[in-house]
Amino acid sequence: MVKDKVAIITGSARGIGKAIALKLAENGAKIVICDIDEETTNNVAEEFRQKGFNAIGIMADVSKMEDAKTLIKKTIDEWERVDILVNNAGVTRDNLLALMKEDEWDSVMSVNLRGPFNCVKSASRQMMKQRYGKIINISSVVGVIGNAGQANYSASKAGLIGFTKSIAKELAGRNILCNAIAPGFIKTAMTDRLSDKVKEQLLSSIPLKKLGQGEDIANTVLFLSSDLSNYITGQVINVNGGMVM
Ligand code: NAD
Repeated sequence: MVKDKVAIITGSARGIGKAIALKLAENGAKIVICDIDEETTNNVAEEFRQKGFNAIGIMADVSKMEDAKTLIKKTIDEWERVDILVNNAGVTRDNLLALMKEDEWDSVMSVNLRGPFNCVKSASRQMMKQRYGKIINISSVVGVIGNAGQANYSASKAGLIGFTKSIAKELAGRNILCNAIAPGFIKTAMTDRLSDKVKEQLLSSIPLKKLGQGEDIANTVLFLSSDLSNYITGQVINVNGGMVM
């Protein structure tokens, strides 16, 4: 479905990003593992090569424009193209508004919102030249419905939806498609941190009565990366077990 396409997945050393990278690799894409720690990034890329996949590791802090530029340049040096960009890297710094420090607001914005801006700005030049590109932004259910204690995170993920729709309109003429996925609660290090009580409350609000898996998001990314979705742009796909309809 994505054979020989060049795919960059940010934040792909673990969790949802790694599941996405694996799914695209299994379907024949050339994978750029990108994460903030150099050693982990290279180790995961090596793990992929050991499995027989085409993969390289590029360390980048997506909140820094210089790193985003280097990420795209190194990818083009290696494979001459950028077909798929998945903006998955994201962080939480939860707090109630009354207690939230400026740094907790700024750091979440800089990774979750500025990060995709930096990466899309850097990748879109190449995609425009190619007249082809698929950009997929990983938002969140709380960017759609909000969440007490996550004003910074929810705002960043809602902002990402506005960004997605705007660039979908700007870049459509060059055959660059851009969509967002809003995952519900997916089992990863991010959600393992939640207390049992919070997890129980969450489960009661999910009609399918279970947390999602990274693979549930990866399957949706595969669809949006492939030719099966060539008439879909500017959309938000909710993958949340029915939590929000
Ligand atoms: P995770 O914390 O397990 O993984 C995030 C990855 O991003 C890590 O490998 C981390 O090192 C990397 N990263 C963080 N800051 C970075 C930076 N500045 N530059 C490059 N890489 C960076 O999280 P996850 O649960 O796998 O979440 C992945 C994405 O899905 C995030 O955007 C998150 O907001 C979103 N999401 C997760 C859930 C969930 O339930 N887990 C729900 C909705 C949305």
